[in-house]
Amino acid sequence: SSSVHRLNVAIIGAGPAGFYTASKILDKDPDARIDIFEKLPCPYGLVRFGVAPDHPEVKICTNKFDELGQDPRVRFFGNVNVGEHGKISVTTLSKLYGAVAISYGTSSCRNLNIPGEFGSQNEQTSVQVGGIHSGREFVHFYNSYPQHRTIFSQNFLSSGVTGRALVFDINPAALDMLSASKISHVDIIGRRGPLEAAFTTKELRELLSLPNLVFKFDYKQFNDCLDNERAVSTLSKSRPLQRKIDLIKKFESNQQSKSPSEHTISALTNSTFKPKKSWSLRFLESPIAVINHKESIDVTMEPSKSVIMAKNRLIYSSDSKISIENTGEQFTLDCDVAFKSIGYISTPIQGVPFDYQKMIIPNISGRVVDSATNDIINGLYVSGWIKTGATGVLANTMQSAFETANAIIADKPDISKNVPLSAINDTLHKHNILQTSVSYEQWLTLKELERANGEILKKPSLKIDSVSEMLKVVKR
Ligand code: FAD
Repeated sequence: SSSVHRLNVAIIGAGPAGFYTASKILDKDPDARIDIFEKLPCPYGLVRFGVAPDHPEVKICTNKFDELGQDPRVRFFGNVNVGEHGKISVTTLSKLYGAVAISYGTSSCRNLNIPGEFGSQNEQTSVQVGGIHSGREFVHFYNSYPQHRTIFSQNFLSSGVTGRALVFDINPAALDMLSASKISHVDIIGRRGPLEAAFTTKELRELLSLPNLVFKFDYKQFNDCLDNERAVSTLSKSRPLQRKIDLIKKFESNQQSKSPSEHTISALTNSTFKPKKSWSLRFLESPIAVINHKESIDVTMEPSKSVIMAKNRLIYSSDSKISIENTGEQFTLDCDVAFKSIGYISTPIQGVPFDYQKMIIPNISGRVVDSATNDIINGLYVSGWIKTGATGVLANTMQSAFETANAIIADKPDISKNVPLSAINDTLHKHNILQTSVSYEQWLTLKELERANGEILKKPSLKIDSVSEMLKVVKR
């Protein structure tokens, strides 16, 4: 049927939220047409640049994304940064399409805002030296996010002065790369208690079962946190939380039930050879300042530092929110490297309301609302992390994208007012998009090259980590 009688949808961002929204819309309305605009020449968002390299099973969803990308009802415009100065805006897209679904995810991370956090800057490369580095950038770095290869030098983890690294708050992703470094111990530190920790049981189980890695843990503090009425009641209400806590309890009793000979061996091992690597999970502690020690003679090495830590206690407010209070007790942790991993955040886009408290686009079940009046803005939708905040895993992102797609279908955008496809194309041409964007076929060529380059090194893929390089490959 002619495009005039079809639902035309624009989706901004080709991460999982973008693809899952598109897929549900096409399920519900097989006549719909979808144009996906993506900032980078490549799709997949955090499935490519977030999910850890040792979790290939998580990336299987990209097969489904590739199927969608090649569906004749879908067009992919890669290398189009919507809302960037001089580029196509959300307002323009809203005039062309029956519905615009914004799914551009997160583009920044929270800071701790403590003294010493930002260290100093390497004058030549403008890269941060010392202080507390961004876990997000580190993840981007080891996942080959374009232009991130200079952020961490090759020797970043090789000073090994204290042999200790700290990862703030609880996200085990960076551990993967640390295993190849001179770091021998990693502390993962959470400001609240074990019941409030955001890591999943699967993540914890994976870390606990890594071979040759010792788990050092304050079981007394852990058990104290659970030994009160509130904790018992919280646990009784959540099966997933129970499973997570039981995993640690089981690990503890397994340790205790080891035969005496095993104990002797481990005691011997501890006194004669130091165990190769270890990690700790610490609760109720927050960094309050960083003292950056002098840079080493080798400027490519990260200088060691002392992080001043405060001990916290939990405060329960009447609306059942849990916050923390400093107990006044302080101590110092010396380390080679420190990362903050306290949340990814979104940034606003021109012409669309933004909630600066939650750092999301305000919405009701995916329908964008005016921040001041709470009125629904017709034809404008959000899905994924820009809708919910950076929380949960792909399954949650999928559910939230389906909710948004269902809202679009339920709202029945008035297709009698449709702009014809030729007029959409004229506007895309005027914005240089038809001429310079990367199509899905071109992306698949690039992906095949990455696979072939990887094969030489006996790896599944070798990612190209620069936009200009990607464009060189796909363009004539
Ligand atoms: P994103 O994945 O961030 O996608 C947003 C897309 O929009 C990107 O491609 C971006 O380039 C594009 N974009 C941004 N701005 C613009 C613009 N102005 N114009 C056009 N395009 C734009 N989940 C799991 O289930 N398993 C895991 O193992 C797992 N590991 C994770 C590890 C890390 C480090 C992180 C951070 C997350 C992990 N997740 C995992 C969660 C999962 O990645 C998210 O649930 C999901 O990616 C969120 O999808 P999204 O589409 O909202 O955002």
